[in-house]
Amino acid sequence: MARIKQIRCLRTRASGTWLIVKVITDQPGLHGIGSVSDVYHAPTVMAAVEQVVAPRLIGRDASRIEDIWQSTYTSAYWRNGAILNTVLAGIDMALWDIKGKEAGLPLYQLFGGPCRSAVPCYAHASGDDAASLAEDVQRYLEEGYPVVRCQLGAYGGGGFLPAASSPRPRNAWPQAECFDDEAYLERVPALFESLRQRLGFGPKLTHDVHEHLRPSSAVALAKRLEPYRLFFLEDVLPPEQVAWYRQIREQCTTPQAMGELFVNPHEYLPLITERLIDYVRLRVSKAGGITPCRKIAALCEFFGVQTAWQEGGDNDPVNQAAAMHLDLATPSFGIQEENHFTAAELAAFPGHPVLAGGHLYPSDLPGLGLDIDEEQAAALLQADQLGPYYAAEDRRADGSIVRP
Ligand code: MG
Repeated sequence: MARIKQIRCLRTRASGTWLIVKVITDQPGLHGIGSVSDVYHAPTVMAAVEQVVAPRLIGRDASRIEDIWQSTYTSAYWRNGAILNTVLAGIDMALWDIKGKEAGLPLYQLFGGPCRSAVPCYAHASGDDAASLAEDVQRYLEEGYPVVRCQLGAYGGGGFLPAASSPRPRNAWPQAECFDDEAYLERVPALFESLRQRLGFGPKLTHDVHEHLRPSSAVALAKRLEPYRLFFLEDVLPPEQVAWYRQIREQCTTPQAMGELFVNPHEYLPLITERLIDYVRLRVSKAGGITPCRKIAALCEFFGVQTAWQEGGDNDPVNQAAAMHLDLATPSFGIQEENHFTAAELAAFPGHPVLAGGHLYPSDLPGLGLDIDEEQAAALLQADQLGPYYAAEDRRADGSIVRP
């Protein structure tokens, strides 16, 4: 029996710190790794791992994954916050990694074996206008991506007006741009009209609103995009306003994807059981790890909802590997968000999944299939590795904040 001997939290990557937890057992050479990355709260997560959670787990039987998850979940009395879920997720991934290594099997084999030969991913295309965006989409389609996300400009793109040309109070706070719902409602459907004219209806396209719209604008956008037959519309509502999905469902057939900000089951359970969304978009490390995500995927299967685990620029290769193993063995899988890493970043994670031609392939080594090369990982660090980092602060013409 392997017992937990030590839990370490390793920092890596120059910009947007990654945190990797390493669970070391008393068996020679047997350890597991997990993702506890949170670029916004890296120092908080590190302290929670090293000072709060690790001391409680030293000496425990590493095979009791479910018991460790359940008992850690209730050990803080309050539960399901973004920080605790991240810590739980990292420990959980590392324990599954250890179990896979002990069994000599990749995790997707332990989960019941593959349902598919590789994992189809969606790419992130962007452009400042329809012509440049169409070119970017075309590039990803030629690379082999089955689905492409289409964004106008940067975060919140399509909804910004220059502050100078916006009706602003005479005591306006300094800001260069103003987010405007009506501008977004004009520009984004026009963008998809143009994309469909240029690319036809063959390509599977998505769009991510990043929760910027007022609820009634969100309903209007979903309806106006219906003629352009999106693969899905992502995060059209903020987590505080999910009850408005009922209105969207009544008004149009645009498929809905939601969930990268969710941490608590109360946030996503009604959306799944009432069939109000089509794709659940939680980040594996923010949902609490592999153990709860297997349950979410099973729940989705019974209600006809599909998984689209979140990735994105601040995620690390360990979280990607955890998502990939779930994707391979999950019948309710829909699509996987892609993530790109530099050669130096990948070198720090030998055995990492390989992204080629729009699909993810596992290394087929036991467990998660990848490890951390501590020397290479340390070489990625720079002095500013802990941030601070903050989410985008977009504002309307009167200066009020737009919730991301
Ligand atoms: Mg998103």
